[in-house]
Order: sequence, then structure tokens, then C-alpha cells
Amino acid sequence: MGEPNEPRPDQPTAAGSVVDVATKSAAGAAESGMTAAQIALRSLGYTWASPNTILGLCFVPLSLASGGRVRYERGALEVHGGAAKWFLQKVCGGVCAMTLGHVILAVDRAALDHCRNHEHVHMEQYMRWGPFFLPMYGLSSYMCLRKGKNPYLENYFEIEAYGKFPL
Ligand SMILES: [Zn+2]
Repeated sequence: MGEPNEPRPDQPTAAGSVVDVATKSAAGAAESGMTAAQIALRSLGYTWASPNTILGLCFVPLSLASGGRVRYERGALEVHGGAAKWFLQKVCGGVCAMTLGHVILAVDRAALDHCRNHEHVHMEQYMRWGPFFLPMYGLSSYMCLRKGKNPYLENYFEIEAYGKFPL
């Protein structure tokens, strides 16, 4: 399990909403003993996943403008509440969190804390599959349906994520 996330003082933004700023950053990767090759590979992963991250970034202004919050934690931008909550509840069938590239959407802060490790497995999957992740995720769900399996719990990518971090 990750370290507990201590609440930080809220900082007002120009949009009048709130952004939580975490002290940990990707720059800490260098301090954590990663080699230059690992840092380069990670940078490639961020680039490869970026089309999905751009999709996720669309939720930043929408959520901030609708009362949500945004924070940076462990190499991911985390968006919760506001439009992100509405999207997850109304469009995604009531899931508590989902990942788009390096953006994690969640209904609220508690859901983020509960799902963070699981969502980070999906983040790693995005770095492996890049723009092919969402089509492959959909294909895996479709194949499950065709075989009479659960399209979510028996999805290839969810099996890996639940295997590492059950919710
Ligand atoms: Zn999952």
C-alpha cells in the first residue's frame, strides 16, 4: 500500500476552484535511485500514453469549473468531484474511478485514496499500450462477452490490475 495522503492546504485558482498540491513529484524519480535508462524509458512511456492523457486533461477545466478538485500525486494528475464525478456516475455506469493515460478520475477524494494503487496499474498499462490501450481494453471486454464472461472482472487488463491491487 502507498503512503497515506495527508491533506494539504487548499490553494485558490483563477477559476475560483481549488487545486491540492502534493509535495511529491516525478522529479523525485531521480532521487529515488532510478537509472538514466529507466528515466528515459519512463519519459517514453509518458509520451506514448499522452494521447490518452490529453483525453483525461479535458476533465481538468470541466471539473474545476463545476466544483471539482485537481491534485498531482505519484506521477499522475488526479481529478475528483464535479464533472469527473458526473461522468463516472452517469456515463460510466457508476464506477468510482478510472484512468485516462496519466490522469486519474474519481468521484471523490476517498475513492481516489481507495483506488489509487489499482489505477496506477492501469497507468502502467497505458505506458505499455499507448494509443492502443483503449481499443484493446474494449476488445478484451468484447471477447469476454462473446464467451459469456464478465466483461469487466474478466477483462485481461482488469485481471492484471486486480491481481496486483484488489479493490
Ligand atoms: Zn481497473
